[in-house]
Amino acid sequence: MSITRRVFLGAGVAATAIAVDQFRRSGLGFAQSNRVLNLYSARHYDTDNALYESFTQKTGIKVNLVEAEADKLIERIKSEGVNSPADVLITVDAGRLWRAQEAGILQPVTSKVLQTTVPKSLQEVGGHWFGLSRRARVIVYNKERVKPSDLSTYEDLANPKWKGRLLVRSSSSVYNQSLTGAMLAALKAQKTEAWAKGLVANFARPPEGNDTAQIKAVATGVGDVTLVNTYYVARLSKSKKAEDQDVASKIGVFFPNQGKGDRGTHVNISGGGVVKTAPNRDAAVQFLEHLASPAAQSIFAGGNYEYPILDKVAIDPIVSSFGTFKADALNAAVYGRNNAEALQLMDRAGWK
Ligand code: FE
Repeated sequence: MSITRRVFLGAGVAATAIAVDQFRRSGLGFAQSNRVLNLYSARHYDTDNALYESFTQKTGIKVNLVEAEADKLIERIKSEGVNSPADVLITVDAGRLWRAQEAGILQPVTSKVLQTTVPKSLQEVGGHWFGLSRRARVIVYNKERVKPSDLSTYEDLANPKWKGRLLVRSSSSVYNQSLTGAMLAALKAQKTEAWAKGLVANFARPPEGNDTAQIKAVATGVGDVTLVNTYYVARLSKSKKAEDQDVASKIGVFFPNQGKGDRGTHVNISGGGVVKTAPNRDAAVQFLEHLASPAAQSIFAGGNYEYPILDKVAIDPIVSSFGTFKADALNAAVYGRNNAEALQLMDRAGWK
């Protein structure tokens, strides 16, 4: 089979069209059909292609993939209007799913499979979007300088004991916006702003680089603790590069807010919804249902070292080596909705 992939290089401009033929058509069980599904995805993991192939093999529906950042895809769908070919939009965080819903480009879906398979906290109550994999935002610490017993909660990272020791990426990261949105739900506005100010006061340096850069800086002692998504740690551990292995050997993973009665570690989602104007609506629903199936879950989540949404699906040994944890049960829609307020608050706190 072939997956047609278009990559947007500019502001919503389809600059390149590449036929991706890295998968061999097996012939076996491959249903011939002219049906297509147009997928707009902000995920950028090569392993996802195996998943789209499995969907085509199961249904005979060809997947046309358009990849770009979520905000560009949302803008694209808006500007395409009723003529948009987009059937499904996939993003890597609840904040952007919320933005897409707010922009009015997603439609409510009633699907028994999705409604019963996807945990309630990971789906929008109106069926506008569904979480399809989970990523925990954890504390990563330098094992030489920090003991796990020094660590406890997100709140504690604002404690002056971490002055000059905390590394966090920019507030423009939607992962940090979602975390702050979840803090808003737990602590309310005043305390969350005080928390953000406390974090900023503890920064070892002004925010720079992505999650991987924070982990590397913790390993080399630029700072002692940071906040990152778990799969970035797993990627370094799995890397064949000696320097990445070295980084992984120097750091530890800590799940915050695990105390008795505490809410648990913040979890963000990668997920998707059916586009309001989807020309292939049935295929779109079928596709989301496929992604929520056990077989697809191990590819979808496992390929990027995320946590599947289904408990019975095995997780990567590196990811399980981080340990088990209690996840914050807050509905992803809540911190999605809190996104704008979170961003304003981070700005006021001086979180660059
Ligand atoms: Fe990421």
